[in-house]
Formats: sequence, structure tokens, C-alpha cells
Amino acid sequence: MGQYTALSPLGEQQLRGDCPFCRSPYLRIRPGHGTYHCFGCGAGGDARMFAAKVGHRP
Ligand SMILES: [Zn+2]
Repeated sequence: MGQYTALSPLGEQQLRGDCPFCRSPYLRIRPGHGTYHCFGCGAGGDARMFAAKVGHRP
């Protein structure tokens, strides 16, 4: 997940970044839980799913 350089710290347990799906800045990631959720498009899942999705970006 750390490969996704657009992430920046948000609070103690979260990262924020641009959603790779809807391009909104509402992506929230919890590394401690290994999960992510986008408040823009509602996408969510575990870290492995996120990495797979991001890996498909051009
Ligand atoms: Zn989104």
C-alpha cells in the first residue's frame, strides 16, 4: 500500500488520498486494519484489493 504515493497521514490511524476509482479526494485508508473506504463513491475493501485496483492504473 505504501507504493501509493498520493497518500498522506490523516490522524493517528488513517491515511487519506485520491480515490483511484472516482478520482475524488475522499479515500480513507486504515493500515492498521488493512482496509480502505471511499466516501466519494462508496468503494471499499481490504488492502490486497486496493493494491490490485491501484495496480491497474495507467
Ligand atoms: Zn471513490
